Amino acid sequence: MRHVLDAEFFRRWMLTAAAAVDREADRLTELDSAIGDADHGANLKRGFTAVRAALEDAPPETPGAVLVLAGRQLISKVGGASGPLYGTLLRGTGKALGDGAEVTDAALGAALEEGVGAVAKLGGAAPGDKTMLDALVPAVAALGDGYAAARGAAEKGAEDTIPLRARKGRASYLGERSIGHQDPGATSSALLVGALAETAEAVTGG
Ligand code: ADP
Ligand code: MG
Repeated sequence: MRHVLDAEFFRRWMLTAAAAVDREADRLTELDSAIGDADHGANLKRGFTAVRAALEDAPPETPGAVLVLAGRQLISKVGGASGPLYGTLLRGTGKALGDGAEVTDAALGAALEEGVGAVAKLGGAAPGDKTMLDALVPAVAALGDGYAAARGAAEKGAEDTIPLRARKGRASYLGERSIGHQDPGATSSALLVGALAETAEAVTGG
């Protein structure tokens, strides 16, 4: 894992994520219907459709600018809790990448750590609370072992939310009844990390 990542890499990551959200929207909504209000798939579909349009409209020239633009779209177009949280993740990561034309894997790892930290700060959640952080935190921790390892950690993190009781967000209103269901946001976070791994495989061979 020694890549130099340019704006095109980040644009492909966001477009791959948008395709994954389109493909999995029904499943995300189904998960959200069990412990939420059945809008997570629609929320992210609306958000990533706007991301795709914005990136096609005026493709940014740096990695940081791609993620900042994507984050802004999610914040402004998604009504649910997940919009501002995912927007903060991408915007925070993009800002941490700075304005260079290319970044290294290590710089992306450090920037993602900042982005995930911003999500934790905004939402007041920690791993174990049955939120997107249960996929994102292990993914960032595994990134040093490569993008495929990060995807595996995110998917495991999402599955491991099943026995947890939700302590943040809408699902927390259910108390004990939130136990036994996979968290929708952790599931979509695994899609986002999976899209990153897919992009790394396609562009740089993994
Ligand atoms: P809403 O709950 O407003 O309907 P969504 O359905 O789009 O929004 O997103 C729900 C997901 O958002 C949850 O599954 C959870 O992963 C995530 N989430 C909710 N609140 C928080 C929080 N405080 N911190 C981190 N993630 C959260
Ligand atoms: Mg919802």
